[in-house]
Amino acid sequence: MNIILLGAPGAGKGTQAEVICDRLGIPTISTGNIIREALKTGTEMGLKAKSYMEAGQLVPDEVVIGIIQERLAKDDAKNGFILDGFPRTIPQAEALDAMGIVIDKVIDIEVADEAIVKRMSGRRVCESCGASYHLEHKLPAKDGVCDKCAGALVQRKDDHPDTVKARLEVYHKETEPLKNYYDRQGKLSIVEGQETIEQTTALILKAIEA
Ligand code: ADP
Ligand code: ZN
Repeated sequence: MNIILLGAPGAGKGTQAEVICDRLGIPTISTGNIIREALKTGTEMGLKAKSYMEAGQLVPDEVVIGIIQERLAKDDAKNGFILDGFPRTIPQAEALDAMGIVIDKVIDIEVADEAIVKRMSGRRVCESCGASYHLEHKLPAKDGVCDKCAGALVQRKDDHPDTVKARLEVYHKETEPLKNYYDRQGKLSIVEGQETIEQTTALILKAIEA
């Protein structure tokens, strides 16, 4: 099954992608994580993406489309995948269609902007493996340490309040039109983000199985 997770930054796409990935045994492909990785290792692509990302703006379409094309060509994506953070613009969605990639389901996780701004302040991410945590909703077993790889948990630069506002603006303008795009293809399910991660997961699994 080929699945896309849509939703505003901080709606819980990354967290839900990790859970579904474990349940269905298909890989999660997160453009955000791939870009952060490239930034860390200092590749040319990472350098190109840095200023956009830190300002809360989108990295240019041709850069992320290239990343996705390369990633989807790998063997582990042949039996299905979950896309987290791609596509984020209409041209990106069109590029996916043009590659002949057939998407089965698009799950949009809806969370109100005010709730997102609040949530983002508690968000932490593993510096080493990219796993996501939250000071209220998803604590690691040991303070500040990743459960999976023992890496250090940090706050992303772009999770600071001013940048979050910029990211929400970009989301409404560039990404939200994708709901309509996939609705017209008959693939869209809307899930309201719930109080707990488990409640939201249950709704997503129901939508995937429907
Ligand atoms: P979130 O979903 O929490 O906003 P991501 O980790 O998915 O965070 O993305 C972080 C940043 O990486 C974005 O703000 C953007 O700069 C860049 N990025 C990730 N995916 C894309 C994409 N598909 N198109 C353009 N930029 C992207
Ligand atoms: Zn880790």
